[in-house]
Amino acid sequence: MAPADVRVATAVAAVRHLAGRIGPRPGTSAAYLRAAAWVQQRLGEAGWRVERQRFATPAGVSWGVPVPAGPSVNLVATRGEVRPGRPWLLVGAHLDTVPQAPGAEDNASGVGVLLAVAEALADRRARLPVVLVAFGSEEPRGPGDDDHHYGSRAYVADLGAAQRRSLRGMVSLDRVGVGAALPVGSAVGSAGDPDPLRAEVLAAARRAGVATLPETGQRSSDHWSFVRAGLPGVRLGSTPYAGYHSAGDLPEVVEPAQLGRAARTVVAWLR
Ligand SMILES: [Zn+2]
Repeated sequence: MAPADVRVATAVAAVRHLAGRIGPRPGTSAAYLRAAAWVQQRLGEAGWRVERQRFATPAGVSWGVPVPAGPSVNLVATRGEVRPGRPWLLVGAHLDTVPQAPGAEDNASGVGVLLAVAEALADRRARLPVVLVAFGSEEPRGPGDDDHHYGSRAYVADLGAAQRRSLRGMVSLDRVGVGAALPVGSAVGSAGDPDPLRAEVLAAARRAGVATLPETGQRSSDHWSFVRAGLPGVRLGSTPYAGYHSAGDLPEVVEPAQLGRAARTVVAWLR
């Protein structure tokens, strides 16, 4: 599993499909379910077994637009090697968007990299068993810390004690297609605070030849659902861009080279 095995074209195709063809996909929308079916198909083709985890998402106001309550799904992909109590790693990316954005960078970029990682791992073993998750309903539906990240919180709530104890790290891919250096975000308050998982991911980026931007106080993605529960999590991505949460979040915003940096970093961390 050399980093060169990563196919950036896989990530680019996902961005074009999810943002260019399907478009806005709030977690409880029909478009979201179409996107989920497409991603499930891609993961299956890469040799992963996918389970759907259903969860409820409440009504709210998402980036200024009212959205209805409803069911949503996480897609949980494994290769049959995860055993409760044995160490494991998780890579996730949210598949939903705010109602007004086609969501190329936020977050077809992350899902695209997730699929490229799925493919890169297809015929090689990682250093530990890996679970890949496309999360639903990450985007906010209100102002509070409980008004977002519904899919990842449902996932964490469903983990048993043995699975929690044995999770060695969760990496959230969220806006990983803009910029020339890769943000590596820790939830800790300041740069001096220890975060062994951030150190691991930064070391993996160095091995992959990827320039990084370490961030602290990063709580705006699905890794926060894990950290809140006492589990190790970091976020990759978050470079600011003009089309954020708007109709301008189109495929041309996303830079293939940055998708490649994110994918190579994740593969280096997993191998
Ligand atoms: Zn996002």
